Amino acid sequence: LAAAGALGGASVLPETSAAEADRTRSPGGVRNFRRIATEEAFSTPEQMDAMAALGHSVWNSLDFVLWRALTDSKNPHSPLRDRLLDVDHERLRIMDELGVDMHVLSLTSPGVQMFDPDTATSLASVANDRLAEIIRQHPGRYAGLASFAPQDPERAAKEMDRAVNTLKLNGFIVNSHTGGEYLDEPKFWPIFEAAEALDAPLYIHPRCPPDDLARPFRDYRMESSTWGFQSETGLHAVRILVSGVLDRFPKLKIVLGHMGEGVPYFLWRIDYTYNAFRPAGQRMKLTPTEAFKRNFAITTSGVNSHAVLKYVIEVLGVENVMWAIDYPYQAAPGSVEFMNTAPVSDDDKEKLFHGNAERIFKIATT
Ligand code: MN
Repeated sequence: LAAAGALGGASVLPETSAAEADRTRSPGGVRNFRRIATEEAFSTPEQMDAMAALGHSVWNSLDFVLWRALTDSKNPHSPLRDRLLDVDHERLRIMDELGVDMHVLSLTSPGVQMFDPDTATSLASVANDRLAEIIRQHPGRYAGLASFAPQDPERAAKEMDRAVNTLKLNGFIVNSHTGGEYLDEPKFWPIFEAAEALDAPLYIHPRCPPDDLARPFRDYRMESSTWGFQSETGLHAVRILVSGVLDRFPKLKIVLGHMGEGVPYFLWRIDYTYNAFRPAGQRMKLTPTEAFKRNFAITTSGVNSHAVLKYVIEVLGVENVMWAIDYPYQAAPGSVEFMNTAPVSDDDKEKLFHGNAERIFKIATT
């Protein structure tokens, strides 16, 4: 299966049978929690067509190498392509089988960030319209994070406003760098201003490392979840943390997937270096760890490890952790089983499975 190799470790597993799913659903009689999965990918025909139309100029870019492998146009029946485009059939069936109430949908990586500003702005707007319609057609089953085009920060801010105030979407998705540039840079501040003013979270989702950083990742197909995703998105988060930009946007809420893209593991060391080597007059008001706990939340997408879950809860607090699957890139049964059997209290499991997501993404409680 080409897709499994392309993901370099995070295999695209076939979904298990209904009988197997039933077994994962009630190991020792799991309570029937409301389950909201918070980093679930979808695509639109427009995104698929626009990616297919990208010229030879980007063919060597890691994102495009990965995209071609995952959605190979010679294989229109690729399960991944179909699963990204489906919101009416198999996706809902798998959710029902596993007791998953809701997917928080976001346009799959790299979103609109490989296109020229006009194309990207237009594609984001169309995708947001489609997302709002999907949510309307399936009451209670979907929430959604809006796309925007960082290539044009002013128009991005307008689209963010429309997405929240008109379309009633639940926050925003951005796929890390845009052309090798990062959101802490002042040209992108209209995006942070909009997110903070709208009181809506910004999910920074991985994409492959930019061309500047690409070479060492090519040798062993390390561009995606083997190391490229987490190292690049972690880099983005640390730039935001130590740049001082969070002094300017103290109420900004950023969400990271994949247990925080490695950042929680290194917070102690980041603090140490920040305090030891940065002149006092150039430090932000909070330590990096304090800023991370104030401004960031994380999800469990793609990391079904109880050891890591226990660690991030201890370091960040259970209020800052949300459950996610990373459908359709990661098989849903394993992610449900992971949280069903998590070594935490039922009160904490309520927060992880749905309470924190309801609070952070302003999802109506049932
Ligand atoms: Mn994902």
